[in-house]
Amino acid sequence: MAKHVYLLIALFIKINSYESVVCSPSSLMINKLSIVRIRLSEPPLSKIVEAVLPGLKKNFESVSVEVVPCPDLTQPPFYLATEGLSGNETVIDVGSPSYLLPSVNLDKLYDIKDFKKVIGSDPLSIVGAGAGPWPYVGVNSEFIGNVKFSGNNHTINRSHFYKINPETKGILHGNLPQNETRFALLANFYTSNGFSGEVLKIVCETRKGPLDFVSSIREALANYYGEETVALGGAILIENGKVKVHVMPEFSKTPLNTETELNNWLNFFEVSTPLVGLGYLVSNDPGLDLRPQHFHLFSDHGFGGHYHYDTEPITIKYTAYLNVAKNLIRIDQPKKSLSFGKD
Ligand SMILES: [Zn+2]
Repeated sequence: MAKHVYLLIALFIKINSYESVVCSPSSLMINKLSIVRIRLSEPPLSKIVEAVLPGLKKNFESVSVEVVPCPDLTQPPFYLATEGLSGNETVIDVGSPSYLLPSVNLDKLYDIKDFKKVIGSDPLSIVGAGAGPWPYVGVNSEFIGNVKFSGNNHTINRSHFYKINPETKGILHGNLPQNETRFALLANFYTSNGFSGEVLKIVCETRKGPLDFVSSIREALANYYGEETVALGGAILIENGKVKVHVMPEFSKTPLNTETELNNWLNFFEVSTPLVGLGYLVSNDPGLDLRPQHFHLFSDHGFGGHYHYDTEPITIKYTAYLNVAKNLIRIDQPKKSLSFGKD
């Protein structure tokens, strides 16, 4: 009898260790990845007000841009892990759509907690957009990263994921547990100490031009600063209208070789507001195959995903709190860049 019990325990351990190998692969070692650091010009926020106003006024009926003390972002509607966006302000582009397209590279699994060593901030606050940790979620998903690390092992993880419900084909929301700080394939983060401080407050209502909110800011900066790279990141509240998003389904079984094939694979939705977006935008790519802009949206009503544009321009309202980055870090840039998949 006892022999049978030992055999059963041995079998159980064997199955579990097998599953832990198959289902929870470890993330890539950060010191094995390419890392490029660039010091950005970091113009004063008052200068950025001047830079973005003309572009925003072309695209929105009502525009206000000012420098304000950051509101407490731990409070509704943001519910973030840290109060502010100040201290060692940095933008990070990790991985690439090249690791998703044309076929997925499942080795590309990263862990945000490894970035502590790369960025050197303590506390370290991260907000941004990427692909979710498929070993935890079970499938491919949209990742809304929001983590605060302080000291050796204190973590506040307010990250979300949105995946496709396999039965209804609708959007399914989930929160990531405190210790799940991995993500896959690609991500674009704004990081800081999360301290209170001055930020840019941009409020735009009633879109009249062709550009979405994030593109309006980025193109305005690009027109003003030219080849100088200016990067902003933070949080955007969207209210009073609907927004087009996508949510990635499970990894494609066939290669996605064109933008059309990519768009046929992605699941698009028109979702209700209020929504909160986290991410970054970069005005110019200094030859690092950067994603120029990337914001992912979450809410307390079940909907979210990758931000494309608003679909009810008459009523839409954006309120953004953004800060300017001092540093840009490019991690694990692919050898070959893709000509699509960065919208
Ligand atoms: Zn995205």
